[in-house]
Amino acid sequence: MNAAPADQIRLLDLQAIDSRLDQLAHRRRSLPEHAEIDQATADHTALKSLVVAAQAQLGDTNRELTKAEQDVEQVRSRSARNQQRLDSGAITSPKDLENLQHEIGSLAKRQSDLEDVVLEIMERLESAQTRVTELGARLEHSTVVLNEAQARRDAAFGEIDTEAEKVKRDRETVAAVIPADLLKLYTRLREQQGGVGAARLYQRRCEGCRVEFAITDLNAIKAEPKDAIVRCDNCGRILVRTAESGV
Ligand SMILES: [Zn+2]
Repeated sequence: MNAAPADQIRLLDLQAIDSRLDQLAHRRRSLPEHAEIDQATADHTALKSLVVAAQAQLGDTNRELTKAEQDVEQVRSRSARNQQRLDSGAITSPKDLENLQHEIGSLAKRQSDLEDVVLEIMERLESAQTRVTELGARLEHSTVVLNEAQARRDAAFGEIDTEAEKVKRDRETVAAVIPADLLKLYTRLREQQGGVGAARLYQRRCEGCRVEFAITDLNAIKAEPKDAIVRCDNCGRILVRTAESGV
């Protein structure tokens, strides 16, 4: 395969453009915001479940309180009824009176125990409310952190994509004038060789693999016609000779 020296040099321009595009794609993939967003998303999801659990706990405790207050109320009204009966003077049998007084006494004890239960539940309710409030604030904060990281990522994407669009337009211009068979070879080598298909020969080295050529190899390269496509013996890349190559 042969190609005019000018086309070979254009291949170096194309290589620089492609390397720039690879760099931009790499930068897009490895933005620190990706890890931040993953972390913030995980935090946000975990906090959301904690909020849901805390709200359920609060609901349960609320119901528990309502039930305990009803229990107190029941005992209280029963006690009040008994007291009324006692005060009415309708009960005259000493045994009935004794029984009634005894029941009033037990009910008072029972009411006091149930009121302690209510107080204990109210304390738990307060803690549950505090937890819901605290977790709610943390969830809100994690939303802010997540949104902020996403905004920064999107801004970086915007910047990278704008530049990539411009570089792609340049690429089209350069690629359009490179002979098809040379472009095809370059593309294949670029895929095989980690993104670099064409390298300059500079100071006796292949700039693709950095190998230094022996004088005899250099002389062999020198002997090649200017329009010959020279390949690096070591890496197989297209070796482009420029004015600075010294051959
Ligand atoms: Zn090489």
